[in-house]
Amino acid sequence: MQNNSKFHFKHSLGQNFLSDDELLDNILLDAKVENDSNVLEIGAGAGALTAKLCQKLTNGHLLSVEIDKSLQPVLTKKLNNYDNVTLIFDDILKISPQQISNEFLGKPFKVVANLPYYITTPILEYLLNNDFAITDITVMVQLEVAKRLCADVGTKDYGAITPILQLYGHTYITRVVDRTMFRPQPKVDSAVVHMDILKNNLDKKTISDVIKKCFLMRRKTLQNNLMASFNLDKDTAQQKILQLGLSSSVRAEELSLSEFIKLGQLLKGEN
Ligand code: SAM
Repeated sequence: MQNNSKFHFKHSLGQNFLSDDELLDNILLDAKVENDSNVLEIGAGAGALTAKLCQKLTNGHLLSVEIDKSLQPVLTKKLNNYDNVTLIFDDILKISPQQISNEFLGKPFKVVANLPYYITTPILEYLLNNDFAITDITVMVQLEVAKRLCADVGTKDYGAITPILQLYGHTYITRVVDRTMFRPQPKVDSAVVHMDILKNNLDKKTISDVIKKCFLMRRKTLQNNLMASFNLDKDTAQQKILQLGLSSSVRAEELSLSEFIKLGQLLKGEN
């Protein structure tokens, strides 16, 4: 952003902007953006990623949402030459899913964003729980969060969010990004995460609820969490775990998504 700009960065809105050309190109590669892709960007900022997307989408459409209206002059100037972008100045979480889908005429679209970190989880929930025709999501997030989203079962980073995300698709880190790449520089490093959305008929809400309850007291065993969250006596909780072929001392972070799904089936009618 120009030094003579009247714009002031708002830490409270997660405003850490990118400008490195190579990194921006690499994010588009990670997102597998094609000329005819339709893309939703969340948080246009000063428009560095937005302009890259506009250049690429010669036959596609970009919808970019930015909450901060004071960025309007900068963005309007930067995107003046492009007619393939719609800018909406609003809180992404307050925009009706119908409005977003209508912008893409009901066609499938990708999400590409350097996310405002303070609402990473609400944004992911908004994108995944609204039945959008999203094919894949490529987002810059805090490195620690990226590790949690993509963790292997049994590792310290594996939390409720890990198997819950696996209900929706396959997620992996494409690159780690040093804090020095942002302006102003944040206190943490970042990573780009790519998620391919996979359609399935799983009851995601019920299974997510089971997973969250199993992780309620992370330091306790699964058996203790089952007793507390599902109001089971010790023998019944232990029996469910043994039926899964697991030891009674197992903890939630040792269960794979398919084991949580089986557990959910065993618990049916008991919660
Ligand atoms: N895309 C730009 C870049 O990469 O340089 C800016 C990314 S910055 C990390 C996140 C942007 O999201 C900021 O411009 C911020 O104002 C915007 N933002 C924060 N909360 C938002 C919300 N609820 N809805 C839409 N945009 C939001």
